[in-house]
Amino acid sequence: MPDPFRQPARPPLHSLTTKIIVFVFLSTLITALLLSWISIQATTAYLGEGIERRYPLALERVAERLQHQLELHSHAQTGLATIDPDTLAALLALGRPDDDARLYLIDPQGDLKASDRSGDASQAGRIPRADRTQENTVREYTNEQGLHVIGLSRSFGDAGWRIAIETPFERAYAPVLAAITRIFIVDVGIVLLFSYLAYRITGAVVKPVEDLSEAARRIAQGQFDHDVPEPDTNDEIGLLARTLNDMMRRLRGYQREIEAANSDLTERNAQLQQAKETFEQLSITDGLTKVHNHRFFQDHLTREIKRATRTGESLSMLLLDIDDFKSLNDRHGHASGDEILVGIARIMNEAVRDSDLLARYGGEEFAVLAGNTDQIGAYKLAEKIRTLISEASFVIDDSLRPVRLTVSIGVAQFSGNRKAFFIAADQALYRAKAQGKNCVVIDAPEFLP
Ligand code: GH3
Ligand code: MG
Ligand code: MG
Repeated sequence: MPDPFRQPARPPLHSLTTKIIVFVFLSTLITALLLSWISIQATTAYLGEGIERRYPLALERVAERLQHQLELHSHAQTGLATIDPDTLAALLALGRPDDDARLYLIDPQGDLKASDRSGDASQAGRIPRADRTQENTVREYTNEQGLHVIGLSRSFGDAGWRIAIETPFERAYAPVLAAITRIFIVDVGIVLLFSYLAYRITGAVVKPVEDLSEAARRIAQGQFDHDVPEPDTNDEIGLLARTLNDMMRRLRGYQREIEAANSDLTERNAQLQQAKETFEQLSITDGLTKVHNHRFFQDHLTREIKRATRTGESLSMLLLDIDDFKSLNDRHGHASGDEILVGIARIMNEAVRDSDLLARYGGEEFAVLAGNTDQIGAYKLAEKIRTLISEASFVIDDSLRPVRLTVSIGVAQFSGNRKAFFIAADQALYRAKAQGKNCVVIDAPEFLP
């Protein structure tokens, strides 16, 4: 039979522990990512603002120095072409705001005239992308070398010369990248730490809850024999465990009382059943001879008549009366008469078949109902009984001589009417007495052999 209280198989992913750990993991991760994103944005904005402030200023200073150089040597602006490249490089280098920045001077044709790194051969082809549309505005772009850079340019004078400053993007924002790496490591650490703490805390909380749930399931099944482990804490779980154990102790007590009452009831029931059976047996048994009594004989006669009517089988009755029993009582006493009645019942009981019914019909009268027995069979049975009794010696306590006695028997066969059946047997018995006793008389003597 399926257990209605059995806990359904719970996949580990749906356990309370897993749910709490996933919740803590996700909430910590989202919080860490959000804080990281905000701090990275702030750092990026801070660095960007620094560049936007310093780079235009640097170009401004370079422009001033170039102008000063031209005025010093009385060159016209176009005279920039005549200035020695190393001097120009030195002038550009002087305006460098930081080590990563590169400064360039570009002639009106868009070719690189000079850079702040004059000694660096690789600078030869490095020409910043001059964009006049965004004059003096710091922006991100990819330069002619394919480098992702941040920088700006401005015109110098009216002849189409330009000065530019740029720095590789990853160098400009190197602190952000470093911060991202550190923040990532801290984020992973925080997420792992909080997930582990969640695992330990939920383990400590969920295990007692599982124990309580298991105990509640056993109570529902009527098993009160196992106490729940009681935690040493005074929290709600500890209180619940102690309450549950207290409840189980009480239930155990009630269960014992019920079992005791139940076993008492079972015992009483068995006694009552036995008494009932004894009573039933007594109600159909003759107290002296222990053969069936008159009442049972009448009931049995009803059943046998129905059966014989249904099946058409023959049914015979023997009525037996002890001869001169009154005088025997007078001679030996009533108690001796009783003993003789018991002896006669025993002899008759041994003579009849198991399927025949023997009953004490009256005081010293017995009846036999023999199913499936015709008149000849019934006559033979009556003769057998009469002979056995007449040959028997009944030893009575206070008499040295055994008592001999005889009986008379009337035999009748059922012919469809209960009353006639009985009257026929009674009349046959009456005739047997009239014929001198110690004989068998059949109500239809023409059938006799
Ligand atoms: P008969 O040959 O004509 O039958 O003569 P009888 O003396 O046997 O007469 P009857 O059949 O009328 O006998 C009845 C006597 O049976 C009366 C009583 O003394 C005796 N009797 C009846 N019931 C009992 C009994 O339970 N115990 C004893 N001891 N005697 C009984
Ligand atoms: Mg009689
Ligand atoms: Mg008699």
